[in-house]
Amino acid sequence: MTSLSYKIYFYILLCLIIICNISSAKTLKKRDLTSCLADVQGTLVYPNSPEYNADLIDENTRVNFTPSVIVYTKTVTDVQLSVYCASSLNMSISARSGGHSYEKYSSAGAIVVDITNLNKIDINSTANTAVIGAGNRLGSIYYTLSQAGFLIPAGTCPNIGIGGHALGGGYGLYGRKYGLALDSILSMDLVDPTGRLIIVNKDQYTDLFFALLGAGANNFGIVTSFTFKIYPTPPSVTSISLNYAITNIQNVFDAYNQLGSSLPDDISFSIVIDNGSIEFQGVYLGTQTNANQILSQFITQSQPTSTQFTEESFFNSVLRRGFQQTNGTIYLFHSPSDFKAKSFYVKSPGLSAAGVQSLITFMKGLPTTCPTYAIFDLYAGGAANNVPANATAFVHRDELYSIKLLTTLNGDNATNQQCFNQLNSFGEAFQANYTDYSCYQNYIDRDLTDWQTRYYGSNLPALIAIKKIYDPNNVFNYPQSIPLE
Ligand SMILES: Cc1cc2nc3c(=O)[nH]c(=O)nc-3n(C[C@H](O)[C@H](O)[C@H](O)COP(=O)(O)OP(=O)(O)OC[C@H]3O[C@@H](n4cnc5c(N)ncnc54)[C@H](O)[C@@H]3O)c2cc1C
Repeated sequence: MTSLSYKIYFYILLCLIIICNISSAKTLKKRDLTSCLADVQGTLVYPNSPEYNADLIDENTRVNFTPSVIVYTKTVTDVQLSVYCASSLNMSISARSGGHSYEKYSSAGAIVVDITNLNKIDINSTANTAVIGAGNRLGSIYYTLSQAGFLIPAGTCPNIGIGGHALGGGYGLYGRKYGLALDSILSMDLVDPTGRLIIVNKDQYTDLFFALLGAGANNFGIVTSFTFKIYPTPPSVTSISLNYAITNIQNVFDAYNQLGSSLPDDISFSIVIDNGSIEFQGVYLGTQTNANQILSQFITQSQPTSTQFTEESFFNSVLRRGFQQTNGTIYLFHSPSDFKAKSFYVKSPGLSAAGVQSLITFMKGLPTTCPTYAIFDLYAGGAANNVPANATAFVHRDELYSIKLLTTLNGDNATNQQCFNQLNSFGEAFQANYTDYSCYQNYIDRDLTDWQTRYYGSNLPALIAIKKIYDPNNVFNYPQSIPLE
């Protein structure tokens, strides 16, 4: 053999040794993992299980992760065991509640802990509280509470999990009256990074309580249940839909910017814009006559082409805003799609005319296979803004409205990539020119620069300090988790 052949032979041998070592390390870890999880009572789904691929399909099909195991926990002890295994085997872990993360982060851990079976709801109608398992979806919560005459404030989509939703904020129906979902949390059961079950509230682990309320999504442990303050449902509510021609957009925004924050907090609403239409979607906690009255000036100024006021039961208003029938609201299902979203906040006096135009021009300029909508949720003049920015980790307490801009990627790969790139660069320019610096952590966005500050603002140093105390080994980590420094 020539010296070159020797070198090639030696190189191939070395590669084989390395590959063998890597795969035997993997087998070892798999064996460790399997034996560590042996006492779990729920179902374990490994990559070689026939269900594995289907079990990774949630709301978001654009992003893919390949965890080493999905643990369908049956009990809180299963959650504790899973966290203990992650911690002792030095593996990452993620909790999955409703699977609605915009970057699929609930599947980002090597161990995915699915908590959908932790779905009990116990109502105490004397104390006006409910203990809600963290695996529940919003639809089943609205349904069960409303059967007993109660509600919590939360988002509009019935299939969102309360776990991720409430730990990052939770804005939607009745938000102006009662604030974010997290503003009504009184206490949480948390499995901490060592696998201990602790009770976190304003009297014990107060620093963790602060951190979980806004930065709780897979940063400090897994919440297994929430105790919520609950509110009586009114005898009837009024669902409101006002429709506008897209050419009328400036009038709509003038009315929104000038009148929105002075409307009574019994009304919560959003303005939804797509390429061809504008709709005001709202719910008023009261009668149709009163709803008509409080909106009369808004209607005169904004000039809708049609108006619809529907007085109905509280739960029917939930069905209407969720665009679902009863079954679709209270039972679990996903509507998987490839999508990407951007988040912005705008303070008073609201988006300028140039900002509105820039948004419309962007939406019109996208390929038709990338349908896009923008939803403007009114915060101002309501309970969400009455909480000090440093009282919880949710810092966005002085906003007129939040904007979500969401593009569905329905085209071929090249067109989807083009839409994705266009959305990212528009987002950066739009934020630099027309909106606040901050963004909503529940509309999580992996392509956002300086996301730590944009999501947590002046609360970031406190969150880093709390992370160091409770998760010094960074067991709970994913691409946008609270850093250790
Ligand atoms: C179609 C759609 C509509 C939406 N509408 C609204 C709306 O009206 N208002 C609004 O505010 N938001 C809305 N959102 C955003 C939604 O609040 C977030 O995506 C939220 O994080 C989803 O929570 P989840 O439990 O369903 O998702 P998951 O993907 O299960 O979890 C999201 C994140 O939270 C972590 N997590 C989940 N459960 C726990 C737990 N028990 N303990 C610790 N960490 C946990 C996960 O690891 C992950 O990082 C919407 C999202 C979608 C896709």
